[in-house]
Formats: sequence, structure tokens, C-alpha cells
Amino acid sequence: MTGMTYKNILLPIDLGHASSWKKALPVALDLARLYGAHLNVLTVIPDVGMPVVGSFFPADFEKKAREKAQEALEKWMDENLPEDLDVKADAYVAVGTIYDEIIAVANKLNIDLIVMASHRPKMKDYLLGPNAARVVRHARQDVLVVRS
Ligand code: ADP
Repeated sequence: MTGMTYKNILLPIDLGHASSWKKALPVALDLARLYGAHLNVLTVIPDVGMPVVGSFFPADFEKKAREKAQEALEKWMDENLPEDLDVKADAYVAVGTIYDEIIAVANKLNIDLIVMASHRPKMKDYLLGPNAARVVRHARQDVLVVRS
């Protein structure tokens, strides 16, 4: 091994689609262990267009949605991360445009490697989904795209 290349790995996942992590999680875990890196798991709640429909939602709609997503993500961590995981793992929730938030959180957390699945397997017409494509294009960090 030439050195501790990666310190801070980001795994963005869509909790509603197991294909977003089934193959990417084992890769992220292996690399986190190999480099002794911190594993950061992020799920983004897509923005529902607050300025237009905001008035139909209770004032604490976003706060509630964040809390629910944080709970769901922590449950996911309990169920899917190995019990004997010897690296630090944290769960993050963001609200907004998925690829923008992945990039913003990557910068904020000083991420040096983003590991993400390419697309949903159903979408056979392309090899890179819209969010993966934009992250690869706009993120400053290394991006490992796991083909699904
Ligand atoms: P598709 O439209 O086929 O799902 P995407 O580009 O949206 O393709 O998905 C590729 C990857 O983008 C996912 O594997 C995941 O890493 C990331 N991603 C998609 N949706 C979310 C989300 N809501 N929160 C965090 N990451 C997401």
C-alpha cells in the first residue's frame, strides 16, 4: 500500500431503491477498510418545489421530512453495515436537488472519494443516470461509479 489515499468517503443512496446501494455499499465498505477512511452515507430528499406548493404544507413539513429520513437512514445503517465495522460511519440527510446536494455535502464534509451506483438497472437506455452523470461532471472529488 502506498499510503492512506482516501480519508473521507461519501456514499449517496436512494433509500427507495436498493439498486442504489446493493453493489456500491460493499465497494465503499472495502475501500473504507482498506484506507481506514470515514464512511459518510447521504440520502437526499428531493425538493418538492417549496416556493410554489409551500403554502399547502404545514410550516414544519421540511423539518418532519428530515427527521423521518434521518430515522430511516439510521435504521438502514443498523441493518446494512457490519456489526464489526472498524471505521467510523455517519448518516446525513439533505433536502434539495439531488446532485446539487451530493456535491455540496461532499465539499462541506471534505470528502475525497464519492462512491455511487450508475443508475437503476431498469433504465437500460443509458449507462449513467442523471444524478450520477452530474456528480461525475461537477464534483471536484474522485468519483467511483459502480455499474448496476
Ligand atoms: P436513476 O435515475 O437510474 O436512479 P440516478 O443518477 O438518479 O439514476 O442514480 C444514480 C445514483 O445517484 C444512485 O445510485 C445514488 O448514488 C444517487 N442518488 C439517486 N437518488 C438519490 C437520493 N435521493 N439521495 C442520494 N443519492 C441519490
